[in-house]
Amino acid sequence: MLHYQKNNLTVFQSSLYKTTSAVIHSEEAIIMTDPTWLPEEIEGIKRYIKVHLGDKQLYIIYTHSDFDHIIGSGAFPEATVIASEEFQNNPKKEEVLKDIDAFDQEYYLERNYVPQYPTVDRVIKKDGEKMELGDMTLNFYKAPGHTNDGLFTVIEPCGIFLSGDYLSDIEFPFITSGYHDYIDTIDKASLIMQYHDINIHVPGHGNATNQKQEIMDRIDFSKQYLKRLLNNDTELEKECRSKFRFFEGMKSSHLENVERANKK
Ligand SMILES: [Zn+2]
Repeated sequence: MLHYQKNNLTVFQSSLYKTTSAVIHSEEAIIMTDPTWLPEEIEGIKRYIKVHLGDKQLYIIYTHSDFDHIIGSGAFPEATVIASEEFQNNPKKEEVLKDIDAFDQEYYLERNYVPQYPTVDRVIKKDGEKMELGDMTLNFYKAPGHTNDGLFTVIEPCGIFLSGDYLSDIEFPFITSGYHDYIDTIDKASLIMQYHDINIHVPGHGNATNQKQEIMDRIDFSKQYLKRLLNNDTELEKECRSKFRFFEGMKSSHLENVERANKK
């Protein structure tokens, strides 16, 4: 469903895990992130793109390869795909597709397209890589820690920060690839805030915000959370439970984080 619309940015938010698909309109292109989740939701995004695309080129940035973020890829075969080198070289592509199939099996979901692992047209190999698209510049930064193939995108001059599964207002950090990588990626987000004039932040799950203080608070929460995982901090779980509406549903990820952070 439509979650946010202002100036050149439209954000769709799925009913599942409040997963977002951001759509940015430039003079020459439409840039989208992770079209997702349910068949009707993806149909809705498709209709929206069809109405607005005209003769522009469609670009899709995949923020990382978790199955919920690539589940819609087969529905946009005309798109030019942008993702990290690690995303392209993911050795577990088949497993990601199996996750999609298992999900659709479990909920009896039919799709009018065949889910695919995206073929990357523009591979992002290093931090600070840029791509000019008419009146916009896309700046890319590697973002490992949640998964090893994450990608941050900053779109200028409008100052849109697309962070994938980092800096959510409804989830604590989910560390599945590396604790230290995750810390470095959050530090990178701080640098992005210093280096770029960010006006709006869209996380992969949760709510877009155009409040700079809110973005800084999201970064700060992640930093504190990651630190406190190491200290056997019994208050942390309590605080997360009161901060996050759906904590019970994600509690096992918190316990895994504690284990991962403290693994020598
Ligand atoms: Zn996700």
